[in-house]
Amino acid sequence: MNPALTAFLLLAAGAFFTFTMVKRFVPLLALRREDRVDHPAERIASLLRYGFGQRRMVDPEERRPGVMHVVIFAAFLVLALRTITLFGMGFSEGFHLPLLAPDAPLGAAYLFVKDVMVLAALVAALGFLWRRVVTKPDRITLSWEGNLILCFIAGLMVTDMAFDGAEALLAGRAFSWSLPAGSLAAAILSPLPPGAVAAVGVAGFWLHLGIILVFLNFLPYGKHFHIITGLPNVYFRALPPGSARLSKLDLESETARFGTSTAKDLSWKEVHDVYSCTECGRCQTHCPTYVTGKPLSHKEVNRALKHHVIEKAPELTRLARAKTPEEREAAAGELPPLAGGVVPPETFWACTTCGWCETACPVFIENIPRLVDLRRQQVLVESAFPDEAARVFKNIETQGNPWGIGSNKRTEWCEDLDVPRAGAGGDFEWLFFVGCAGAFDDRQKKVSRAIVRILREAKVSFAILGEEETCNGETARRLGNEYLYQLQAQANVDLLNGYGVKKVLTQCPHCLNTIKNEFPQFGGSFEVVHHSELIARLVADGRLKPGRPAELSSQPVTFHDPCYLARHNGITEAPREALAAVGVAIREMPRNRRQGFCCGAGGGRMWLEEKIGTRVNQNRVDEAAAALGPSGGVVAAACPFCITMLRDGVNETGREEKVKVLDVAEIVARALEA
Ligand code: SF4
Ligand code: SF4
Repeated sequence: MNPALTAFLLLAAGAFFTFTMVKRFVPLLALRREDRVDHPAERIASLLRYGFGQRRMVDPEERRPGVMHVVIFAAFLVLALRTITLFGMGFSEGFHLPLLAPDAPLGAAYLFVKDVMVLAALVAALGFLWRRVVTKPDRITLSWEGNLILCFIAGLMVTDMAFDGAEALLAGRAFSWSLPAGSLAAAILSPLPPGAVAAVGVAGFWLHLGIILVFLNFLPYGKHFHIITGLPNVYFRALPPGSARLSKLDLESETARFGTSTAKDLSWKEVHDVYSCTECGRCQTHCPTYVTGKPLSHKEVNRALKHHVIEKAPELTRLARAKTPEEREAAAGELPPLAGGVVPPETFWACTTCGWCETACPVFIENIPRLVDLRRQQVLVESAFPDEAARVFKNIETQGNPWGIGSNKRTEWCEDLDVPRAGAGGDFEWLFFVGCAGAFDDRQKKVSRAIVRILREAKVSFAILGEEETCNGETARRLGNEYLYQLQAQANVDLLNGYGVKKVLTQCPHCLNTIKNEFPQFGGSFEVVHHSELIARLVADGRLKPGRPAELSSQPVTFHDPCYLARHNGITEAPREALAAVGVAIREMPRNRRQGFCCGAGGGRMWLEEKIGTRVNQNRVDEAAAALGPSGGVVAAACPFCITMLRDGVNETGREEKVKVLDVAEIVARALEA
């Protein structure tokens, strides 16, 4: 006990910690506001499940490190009471928290749990050190900082044991299973003379307090800042996730923001995100761009942004304190652009917006909207974007589709089918939004026809917009052209509302996502289903009774989950149910459902050259071919972009003789013929 020293340590460490936290958080006052306190019940549930419950840490692929992290997290929660007790003992020797006196039943139970967690955390910390020094998995950033933090953690556990062990030995207490860590330490210290044991106990006590305070002050200076910001970041997560529903820019307002130019355009949450990045690398394990060698790693992006914000904290603080527009302008003018110096263009143009990174991130960091905001600024302000994107924008502007095929050819795919038009005035239940691929791409036209065949078989009442339909703008939005997207979205919403549409059927997960999740921003709220969902429903209702096509029952079939169906909209079972209805037994690929691997076409990448690294589609086709086996078979898909990419991948890898790519609707339509 030494009240003066304890008080000095607490005051000095507390003052320095406050100083650092003010430096880190005052700049956030200059940043864009975002409401992240709505839906409190949902947020608390999420915090309990994913924050305290650590649900995303124990992923099936890497269970051991996940469990080790959970152990250390739990140990810190348990040791929080112990820490308060030890600081109290610095002031008064017999200090204990109410109800937790060592000889009270609750106190004894707590000490037992605490000791078990101390031992478990020590083993976990040593296990992590082993991983960093010996096994070195790819996703981990090997830095001295990580090793130092693990030494701090191990040091905390060892000093706690030393203090308890010395105390037990000096008090003459025998080995007790109710205090396993302390008893173990007592056994180790037992050969020492009493004076040395007392010295070890005192050293253990003060070292323990010292490590806690140094550890606490060290956190905001490195990646372990997440120990402070991680739980709040889970609480402030986007509800619903922002990657499926990108923000709508107010392009008319005088203070309009056109994406992200400098740090001042980031929101407080975006900076809180980068403060919270643990650099665990989970975001890159199935990231199609990282895996295939493109220069996009979120932990690198987050680290670069974090260092930039910390470096520019004085400018941002001046901006936060500016009173007049002139002062604001002057402070904002001191900030350099983020695109280029901080985040290279090839990084933010590489993303397919597949959503893996956000699904995997244990602290719910929102990467995609941040990258799209960088694209938006490049497109809307700098006019700096890939040439292929320029062609796509022009095609959508002039012909209402990314291919640039004459808009008058939009209904050629169904000229002989007599498909009803919404504009003809008849009643219909479903508006079949054919989409640009379904109308203009020769391969996808066959899928459109298969869907019509199925709808007719099940006597579903439907209509199409025909030549009135125009691109919904999804590609433009994800390529950063928010202006063009808004024009397209509003035109479609007005058209759909004009016909009193309530239910929309799509064959493209990108159409589905934008109509379902983004059209509400423009006054369009519809029930939107994917064709695989409707097929599964029709089969379940007995309205569709497909046979078993002989050609498919004799060959293996695997299913590729489109990211915008499975990950962004949680639709994983309907396509499988539709395939099961025609007797197809799916051979799953290792990366399936929400853990699926992107085909490489999302985020507008369908239209951009893939010049760096290996090809994403070939990576996926290799996996599909391995699942099918040496005789080959069918890769079933449910997205026009995926079908294009997979088919190209099959051809590029010379597998066209053995591997066919078919849409779920085509398979079901063939089964109807059977
Ligand atoms: S963004 Fe998330 S998943 Fe990626 S390194 Fe950071 S914390 Fe880990
Ligand atoms: S959205 Fe997909 S492609 Fe983009 S960074 Fe995340 S995992 Fe990679």
